[in-house]
Amino acid sequence: MSGRLAGKVAIVTGSGSGIGQAIAIRFASEGATVVVDYRNNIDQAQATVSKAEAAGGKAILVKADVSNLADTQNLVDQAYTQLGRGDILVNNAGIEKEAAFWDVTEADYDAVLNVNLKGAFFLTQAFVRRLRDAKLPGRIINISSVHEDMVFPNFATYCASKGGIRMLMRDLSVELGPLNITVNNIAPGAIATPINTKLMEDKPKLDALLANIPLGRMGTPEEVAGLALFLASDDAAYVTGSTYFVDGGLIRNYHEQ
Ligand code: NAP
Repeated sequence: MSGRLAGKVAIVTGSGSGIGQAIAIRFASEGATVVVDYRNNIDQAQATVSKAEAAGGKAILVKADVSNLADTQNLVDQAYTQLGRGDILVNNAGIEKEAAFWDVTEADYDAVLNVNLKGAFFLTQAFVRRLRDAKLPGRIINISSVHEDMVFPNFATYCASKGGIRMLMRDLSVELGPLNITVNNIAPGAIATPINTKLMEDKPKLDALLANIPLGRMGTPEEVAGLALFLASDDAAYVTGSTYFVDGGLIRNYHEQ
């Protein structure tokens, strides 16, 4: 198949829904074979595979909880055993838990940090080791958040995880540059996905948020996928070490009500 990612294999974590699903489908439509990772919901992940195939591409399913080291190793191993390579990694899987700082439990801290930061850290390590051994180039794209930079009261764990992924990206862009592996972050603002179900059902809160977004609306997962495609494509060969915001201008205009 032709396309901007023809012949590439892309691992997309948490691609059974939301942004990850849109990225998997977009990559498949551009010729990549996609490893669709899921944690719990096999039906959703299977739907991603079907949509990727309907878009003209190929996809396989792998169950891996990114907070589990053995699972992250297996996720990369499956790409190589089933598809023979792994060119692109999208660290997309993420969760958030709301709590005032003084109420955060150790369990909630571990849940958020283990998925959003530790998961991306060790999956990237497994991905990079293969490329290093084979002396092949690669692309790493982290789906971070505007909250890698912008405050989010009552979501201290989320902010800590996304701030961590910002510095991890910056550090790895230097450490992995000599291996011709690029590392960049995409920082979405408010995107209409299941992670925001509660917000989207709370009209006053949603309206207050929309008033802070210069473009006046939430973004779509497909709008994030378009940027991910650019960063994964040959057009971004000289792009590494940066965060790209997809937020309708939110980061430039945020203030508490
Ligand atoms: P979503 O629809 O809830 O998708 C998150 C996905 O991650 C789900 O498919 C979930 O699978 C998966 N996941 C969670 N924990 C996992 C684990 N341990 N291992 C493997 N997969 C796991 O939300 P989304 O909005 O698309 O979020 C995707 C990423 O974008 C996240 O990193 C999020 O922080 C980031 N982001 C989103 C927004 C936004 O406004 N939507 C803004 C900024 C950043 P299960 O359902 O099986 O748990």
